[in-house]
Amino acid sequence: MTEVVEAPGTTDAKMRRISHWMGGQSVAGESGRSGPVYNPALGVQTGEVDFASREEVDRAVQTAKEAFPAWRAVSLSRRQELFFRIRELVHDRLGEIAAILTDEHGKVLSDAKGEVQRGLEVVEYACGIPTLLRGSFSEQASGGIDVYSIRQPLGVVAGITPFNFPAMVPMWMWAPAIACGNTFVLKPSEKDPSASTYVAELLKEAGLPDGVFNVVHGDKVAVDAILEHPDVAAVSFVGSTPIASYIYKTGTAHGKRVQALGGAKNHMIVLPDADIDMAADAAVSAGYGSAGERCMAVSAVVAVGDAADPLVAAIEDRLPKVKVGPGTDPESEMGPLITAAHRDKVASYLDSGRDQGATVVTDGRETAPDNGGFFLGVSLLDHVTPEMDAYRDEIFGPVLSVVRAETYDDAVRLVNENPYGNGVAIFTRDGGAARQFQFEVEVGMVGVNVPIPVPVAYYSFGGWKASLFGDSHIYGPEGINFYTRGKVVTSRWPDPATSQVDLGFPQTR
Ligand code: NAD
Repeated sequence: MTEVVEAPGTTDAKMRRISHWMGGQSVAGESGRSGPVYNPALGVQTGEVDFASREEVDRAVQTAKEAFPAWRAVSLSRRQELFFRIRELVHDRLGEIAAILTDEHGKVLSDAKGEVQRGLEVVEYACGIPTLLRGSFSEQASGGIDVYSIRQPLGVVAGITPFNFPAMVPMWMWAPAIACGNTFVLKPSEKDPSASTYVAELLKEAGLPDGVFNVVHGDKVAVDAILEHPDVAAVSFVGSTPIASYIYKTGTAHGKRVQALGGAKNHMIVLPDADIDMAADAAVSAGYGSAGERCMAVSAVVAVGDAADPLVAAIEDRLPKVKVGPGTDPESEMGPLITAAHRDKVASYLDSGRDQGATVVTDGRETAPDNGGFFLGVSLLDHVTPEMDAYRDEIFGPVLSVVRAETYDDAVRLVNENPYGNGVAIFTRDGGAARQFQFEVEVGMVGVNVPIPVPVAYYSFGGWKASLFGDSHIYGPEGINFYTRGKVVTSRWPDPATSQVDLGFPQTR
């Protein structure tokens, strides 16, 4: 279990110490390095997380490597049975996991529960592993010869995850990876690490053999040790674009299969024929949910033609009603940001926006709760243009920018010229316009009157351009492919009557 210890430098508060997980047990870090974990709603440190050294990462990888031969030999039926148990346990403890997320990330409890629920859908998908790993079979491909394909696990695979979905994003990785027969090493975000350790305990309780799932906490030292480790076959990464690019380059240079999902700048286009109230509801929900710290959050609303003035008025009208406060308060709809530094950076876009010519319609600094937590209230910028910092940067906070476009073509050009391509939405009543949009927009996940089009678990999640490095989207069918490699068997059972020497190239006719 997660240890409760008095951390060095703390006098008056009980400080949780968050340790690694290897071989089915908690393993205290020995590197002498660690990092603080905060309760962002209070602005106080509540924990200290161990940072792994290279040697500790190696130990986790070796543990996973030793567990691999036995785990890959476990029958599909048993793996399926185990995944049903995991599903039930995660479902039963959804409230506990959500409480950990609210405590360390800050998102409101209802949103935290929603996160675990969406992650659970990927676990449910993994319950179908016998069907998902089915190969194909061609009888009599040539005389007396059958050909069939099988998919096999890679070995030890690793996941490196961001702070904003501390339970769901790891589930996107470990569920398919383990179901496919791999063993796993997770390096969660050091900002909110406890959910991963808790889930490790649940997996053990469900009956997952020791060593199949391991957690190393830490920073760049641990990440680099994973990327360079010769026994790690593949790396899944979700995080910011500069780090995703680094992970992809470094991991592939070390011969690994890598999928690295990066940052985003998600646009929501509102055409003049759209239902303005519905669009405003969607913009507020998708712009400020989870304090804008979602890779699929709407960051730029592109109001086309006459839609702009009524849309800005409708969004502005809704903002005073959004309840900002601690995630543990059932009344709160939006919690704090992850750190004070991030809150200040997000707020700086209100100043740079004003200085660069945007209109600050609502300044969230004026409405943020003043209790020492890392809060910023909902904020709205209008008349944002593509050269402004507020448009160019991801922001990743509760600052929504309205960009005004004259025509549909201008709006689509804006989206397609953006370096990111994670999510996008169009709001319209015109089916033809929506169809044309999905045809020509250069973005991986598209919503039609749906502001946060996160694919269901049986499709795959992933952006285009600077939002994804590598060939493979995450979870769903592409996740199963990513965590397996194909083998094709050409087989003939001996028939001595037809055996002969033939030095020609094998023919099928
Ligand atoms: P981050 O890139 O700072 O960190 C992600 C992971 O990389 C963490 O585990 C961290 O410890 C590690 N890391 C950080 N700096 C590193 C370095 N220099 N070298 C090696 N490893 C390093 O991202 P974050 O701030 O935790 O998460 C927010 C970002 O993640 C946003 O940009 C968001 O858009 C993105 N994100 C993307 C998706 C997606 O599906 N595309 C989903 C969630 C979050």
